[in-house]
Amino acid sequence: MHRDISKARAEARFMLEAIHTPDDQLTLEQRQDIARKTVENFRDNINKGFLSYRKSVTQAEDFAYTEWQGQGSVMRDVLGREFIDILGGFGLYSPGIRHPKIVAAVKAQLDRSPQYSQEMLDPLRAQLARVIALLTPGDIQNGFFANSGTEAVDGAMKLAKMYTGKAGFISTLKGFHGKSLGALSLLGKAVYREPAMPLLESVIHVEFGDAEQVERALSIARAVGQGVAAVVAEPIQGEAGAVVPPDDYWPRLREICDHYGVLLIADEVQTGFGRTGTIFGVDHWDVTPDIMCFGKALGGGVVAMSAFFAKARIWECLTPNPFMHTTTTGGNPLACAAALAHIEVMLDEDTPGQARDKGAYVMGKLSELKGLYPGILESITGKGLLIGMNFVDDEIGYKVAAGLFARRVLTAGTLTNAKVIRFEPALTISYEQIDEVLNRLEDTFKSIAV
Ligand SMILES: *Cc1c(COP(=O)(O)O)cnc(C)c1O
Repeated sequence: MHRDISKARAEARFMLEAIHTPDDQLTLEQRQDIARKTVENFRDNINKGFLSYRKSVTQAEDFAYTEWQGQGSVMRDVLGREFIDILGGFGLYSPGIRHPKIVAAVKAQLDRSPQYSQEMLDPLRAQLARVIALLTPGDIQNGFFANSGTEAVDGAMKLAKMYTGKAGFISTLKGFHGKSLGALSLLGKAVYREPAMPLLESVIHVEFGDAEQVERALSIARAVGQGVAAVVAEPIQGEAGAVVPPDDYWPRLREICDHYGVLLIADEVQTGFGRTGTIFGVDHWDVTPDIMCFGKALGGGVVAMSAFFAKARIWECLTPNPFMHTTTTGGNPLACAAALAHIEVMLDEDTPGQARDKGAYVMGKLSELKGLYPGILESITGKGLLIGMNFVDDEIGYKVAAGLFARRVLTAGTLTNAKVIRFEPALTISYEQIDEVLNRLEDTFKSIAV
């Protein structure tokens, strides 16, 4: 695209005008313009691959579904078409979209100071660290804030290397930890790793849920003198499709790591802050990891926010030079205000308890559907409101995703990756909305079964 300053200004103005226009004053023509331009911009300036990948989004009637406004578990597109959201931004929207108390805290902080000076001591960040230290299991105490889950994982890896003086990691097949060069080294799928190789040296992958494979890998690493800094895993694998490990997995990982003098890192980016029915995923098994990573829901679905936290004795290695790991925007006041408000909402509204009860309800209903439609739904996995609907194959899964979309249920599922579709709504979704989704799901199954 050739440089054109006045066009750049006009294009910026186009969207600013839309943002500043009260929603009931946007004309149909303006709305259609936004939908049309969004497709063009994706095609020309983001990645045209998305348009073919997201067929059920882009081939909708005359205009692609273009998101515009959300509240709770309802997402409206720019033309006013309304969806019930059971994707929950892959766990971002645990308290619901635009929870009023979280939005209010962010607005109040926006009027005071949105970013840090970078030199004075910032009170919100310090207070949030204290709150999280009090929430986390065992003696987890110090933390660092960043913007994305990926950054939290990268920071945790770096801390583990600094503390142990070792380079290696043990990670899990199909595990998801982000796609930066560091986090990608841990990720457990060839398709994303191969083009970026070589990645970090000495990462060993083992199957998720089998602690004995971790033990074997550590004993071999010790025998051949290969240093391992940490074992990294999700308490419940999210991206892999809500995969719950056996109950003795995490307690065994704790024992094995202690035995070999290796750190245990729990990637709670998706499971943290209530998603699985407890505040943290590891709480199901009463395990205290050495380092924990947070992201997604931490900022309450309002501001991007992530963190890694560790025990004080591990953090010691960062104290002589606190600039060993830094970020300019991580843990900014808006993000901290959002996280503090989200934590208060989580405790006041008992969103972990809501996840537990609603999750049990959904799992029960899905089991009934599985009995009625065995040729479609193969199994149901997960805990709390991190639920995986496992279909018999990709094609059936894609038909379900497209069918749900046509029935205005927002979910994820692409042509090539739809065997497992996550049922991961806001923890505050109402039972009426859940029932409505289940009705539309059954309706979709019926249409596929004939
Ligand atoms: C989403 C996710 C990440 C990456 O977080 P981003 O905010 O997308 O960078 C890392 N780990 C887990 C377990 C995740 O689910």
